[in-house]
Parts: sequence; structure tokens; C-alpha cells
Amino acid sequence: MEVYKFGGASVKDAEGVRNLANIIIERNQKNNLLIVISAMGKVTNKLEELTKAYLTGLNDVHQIFEDVKQFHFSIIGELFPDESNPVYNDVANSFVEIDWLLEEEPDDAADYIYDQIVSIGEIVSTKIAAAYLNETGCNVQWVDARNFIHTDNSYREAQVNWEKTEQEIQKKLNPVLEQCIAVTQGFIGSTSENFTTTLGRDGSDYSAAIFASCLNASSLTIWKDVPGVLNADPKWFDETERIPRLSYHDAIELAYYGATIIHPKTIKPIQNKNIPLYVRSFLDHKAEGTDITGADNHLPVPSFIFKVNQALISIFPKDFSFIIEENLSDIFSLFHKHKVKITTMLNSAISFSVSFDHDPKKLEALIADLSQHYKVKYNTGLELVTIRYYNQQTIDRVTVNKNILLEVKSRYTCQIVMRDKTTVE
Ligand code: ASP
Ligand code: MG
Repeated sequence: MEVYKFGGASVKDAEGVRNLANIIIERNQKNNLLIVISAMGKVTNKLEELTKAYLTGLNDVHQIFEDVKQFHFSIIGELFPDESNPVYNDVANSFVEIDWLLEEEPDDAADYIYDQIVSIGEIVSTKIAAAYLNETGCNVQWVDARNFIHTDNSYREAQVNWEKTEQEIQKKLNPVLEQCIAVTQGFIGSTSENFTTTLGRDGSDYSAAIFASCLNASSLTIWKDVPGVLNADPKWFDETERIPRLSYHDAIELAYYGATIIHPKTIKPIQNKNIPLYVRSFLDHKAEGTDITGADNHLPVPSFIFKVNQALISIFPKDFSFIIEENLSDIFSLFHKHKVKITTMLNSAISFSVSFDHDPKKLEALIADLSQHYKVKYNTGLELVTIRYYNQQTIDRVTVNKNILLEVKSRYTCQIVMRDKTTVE
């Protein structure tokens, strides 16, 4: 049993869907393959925009939705010249559900509405891909992920009910996969009351890992627009290297610190079942890529992860009490309350410094709460670089012309919060 995951970039247009079909056809597999697909291209962003417009009533809701429909129907038009193909109706019917929702006043909770609207991206992308695969002669069945991925009702960040999910997958999906190839959605699940949930942005990798784990798959392959995991993002670095083999441990560290190649939640389920994760390029599908496994491979080269738009705050107890013994749990609970995810931290006797992604609203609310008991100083507009398997040379290389505000080192990882020397304080 194998699981493949294709992200939005791989199916951003008709050519992408044809390419996906080619990859499947060339493997010449009749069954025991589950294909997990995201929404096409940037559709999820567009649907987020639609949700916002609907909730605020400010923008032209119908125009945005028309654009989304148009985008899909032009791809369908290219792929299926025969207009009597059932995919036309099937996709139109899926959109109707959102039309109905948009007709009504938005009086449900915003996060609930978000999940009902945004999930449509994955529903229609998989309908199109499954129909196209069938056209090309593959024996494919479209499967609704919501019948399998069972979650709680934390909309937008739903938590998986593993026991129920595993049970349903083994009982009902396994028999389907014995007969044919199945196509399903990433990113979405459903509550015990059958309401649609989503697993958090970029969650399709995680979905694929859940399916792979519950199916006891022999491997999970994530098809990307890059040749594999690289030691740095080419956006920031001229010379990047592909890492041919990576341990689960390094992969989860890199993903956690912000390497965008794999969603951080993906590794745990497959590590727990010792399922190899292959990262491959959909542009050159026979090339080697990266194999992520339990083997104890140290990274062959230092790896760099850059994050911009960081905020750094330093917290000092007003009464001069020790930060660790007397205040840390209090401080952490405020971070948790405001859903601020920490990227680095460092403490001294009476101060605690923390960096995180800068979200102005969250920062303001957090500082307001902290200021009741602490003196708070903060900086914004910072960069964070994480170097896995660092040495002095790599540190020197990334800190040229930078002022360092915070530097934290463990045995293998060095994190530096910094800003350009030219930035005025
Ligand atoms: N379509 C969703 C998103 O763009 C999920 C995914 O692509 O992984 O966030
Ligand atoms: Mg995506």
C-alpha cells in the first residue's frame, strides 16, 4: 500500500492535472494506491478571501466566488472537451452548496463558516483529478476524506480522533483500495455530527501522513515543485544542496523551525509506524529526491531556515522575582491563551526573551495582559535564522551586516534573532 500526496502547486492548471495522471499511469498500478490532493493552485487563499468578504459583508462576495468557479471550469474545459462529461455537473453541484450558504446571513461562528467554505477547494480539485484519471483509463474511485478523518470541533485547527479514524480507514477504505486506486482530499475532516473541519493551513501533508499511518502503508510520497529537501530555501540562498537522505529527527526539527517543505505535523505519524517518506519532484518524477527514514543519517551539510517578520519581547517581573521559579508557567499560559507560537526563547535570572511570528493584533493583546505583572520591551521587523549542524563559519556567514538581538545554541542547533545594521532602533 502506497500513499501519494500532491499539493496545490502540482495541480495549479490543466497541465498539472495531466502531469499528475502521467505519473500515475507510468507507475502502472491498479490498486493499493491512495492519492491525496490539495486545492488547486492558490484556491485556498481565494476561498479565505471569500469567507472574509461574506463575514464582513464588505466586498463583492459573489464576484469572488464567480472567479473561483470560473478558474475551475476553465481547467475542466481544457481537460474534458466533451461537455456531457459528468464532471461538469458534479463540480457545479459541489459549488451549489456554497451558493446556498452565501445566501444566508452569517450567524454561525466564523471558524465554522470558514471550514465549510474553504474545504470546497479540496472537494472540487479531487473531483476533477479523479474524473481525469478515469478518462485516461486508470481505475480510480473518488473518496470523501470526511468519512475517514474524524476530528473534534476545533474548527480551522481540528484535532484528529485517531482511534475512530484508524478504525474507519481499516474497515472501509482498505477494501476499496484492494480493488482500485482511490483519490481523496487533504486538509479536511469531519466532526461526530458530520460537519466539515479543516486541519490548519497546509494541512494536506498531515492528512496524507494520517492515511499512510492508518493504512500501514509501505511508503508515503510527497510530490513537490522542488527536487527534494534542500539545505536552505533558494529564495534566500544562492547555493543550495539537495539532501538525499534525512532522518525523521532532522526532518521534524527542520519542519518545526519553519522549513516549508513539509508540514511539521507530518513526521510523527509516519515515524511512529516507521513508514519511509519520499519527497519527489513532480516536474522530474524519476529523479532521486529525498528519503526520510528512521536511519541515523546526520545532515551532510548545515541547513539554514530563515523566518522574517519576527517579534522579540523581553519580559521582566516588576517585583524582581526570579523568572523561572515564580513566573514561567504564568507567562506560558498567556502565550497559550493568545495562541502565540514561540520560535525561540532564552531566560536570565529576572528576564525572559521570546521571539514569534509578528501578528500585530496578537502582540498587542499579549502585551496588554503581560503588562499587568511584568515590564515588557519589544522589537519587531526582525529575522530569525536557524542553523542545524552549525559551526562558527555558518554563523558568520548569516550574520554579515546584522545586529544580533538574541542567540541560542544547543548541541546541533543555533538560532539567531537579528536585524539589518541599517535599521534604526
Ligand atoms: N489547501 C490547503 C492550503 O492551501 C491545504 C494544503 O494545501 O495543504 O492550506
Ligand atoms: Mg497548499
